[in-house]
Amino acid sequence: MRDKVQPHIPATLIPGDGIGPEVVEATVKVLGALGAPFAWDIQQAGMAGVAQSGDPLPPETLASIRKHGLALKGPLTTPVGGGFRSSNVRLREEFQLYANVRPALTILPGRFEDIDIVLVRENLGGFYVAHEYYIPIGDDPRAVAVSTGTNTREGSKRIARFAFDYAVRNGRKNITVVHKANILKALTGIFLEAAREVAAEYEGRVTMNDMIVDACAMQLVLNPQKFDMLLCTNLFGDILSDQIAGLVGGLGMAPGANIGSECAIFEAVHGSAPDIAGKGVANPVSLMLAACMMLDHVDLPDLAQRLRDAISATLNIDQVRTGDLKGSATTEQFTDAIVRRI
Ligand code: NAD
Repeated sequence: MRDKVQPHIPATLIPGDGIGPEVVEATVKVLGALGAPFAWDIQQAGMAGVAQSGDPLPPETLASIRKHGLALKGPLTTPVGGGFRSSNVRLREEFQLYANVRPALTILPGRFEDIDIVLVRENLGGFYVAHEYYIPIGDDPRAVAVSTGTNTREGSKRIARFAFDYAVRNGRKNITVVHKANILKALTGIFLEAAREVAAEYEGRVTMNDMIVDACAMQLVLNPQKFDMLLCTNLFGDILSDQIAGLVGGLGMAPGANIGSECAIFEAVHGSAPDIAGKGVANPVSLMLAACMMLDHVDLPDLAQRLRDAISATLNIDQVRTGDLKGSATTEQFTDAIVRRI
């Protein structure tokens, strides 16, 4: 018999856009069945925020995240081209969420088995600083395009320290630092150098090796089981985290956490999936696994593990799956099957 726990951990809940409200509803349902003690403060962002107040990140939403320091967020649509800046990038900057943690764990064996990789991505610097401009030549105003990136020694050491601390806390043994220091000698060289300095502080506890990003991309396909943790600059981490999501079943299976010193926001790696929004067929596992990371974060690892086990039993034993995993369950049927397993 489970103890009834009163909700006592306040957290911001952002339904988001597209399939966001569908996967958020599913996740809140399983968290409720689990007895997770979150007290939700529901706030809007993305296109829903624009519809409400003309701003994709309304001040009330920011105030709520600042107050609680903890949020579960559905995907936010970023209009392509002009208009709004990415709300996700704005959130990372606003709350200095310098660490992006993206685990890839085989729950449903597919083309690959036994994958268990945690990717840590530097979330604020690199090419995402994006000082971009054109240089006109003759009558072509956009004859040359220039983009610059920025990595600081301090920022690189901070993310390296985060990764090594994570390794120690979670019993991980090796970190592969991903770079392109043979070509981007300054931008990614400083990142590698900082990682080496930090690694020296953890000698005997966690080992480190380094790999050029292109070689790493290939090895992740040839020998994914040999990787434990990856530490990446912003752009490489963005790309490789989608690749490792592909190793474990795709975007429907990939959670992420954005962590700063005062605040943490948990989300699915996927976007708002406008092609399937409103159809009730989205796979909610990514956001449910993000909720598991949130439970770990607030020091409730037993609840997190129970939810992971229920997801695994539903997919593997009951064989209830959504369309992206070649099943035929709706989001609701799949969610109810998980609730029965909790
Ligand atoms: P997407 O991740 O939304 O979709 C890519 C493909 O994967 C689509 O075919 C989609 O149907 C499928 N897919 C994604 N999640 C799924 C799920 N849970 N279940 C089943 N299928 C799923 O990527 P996109 O189409 O390039 O982006 C759409 C919008 O989302 C854009 O505005 C983009 O900026 C935004 N986006 C937001 C976030 C975020 O909020 N963190 C992340 C990525 C993209």
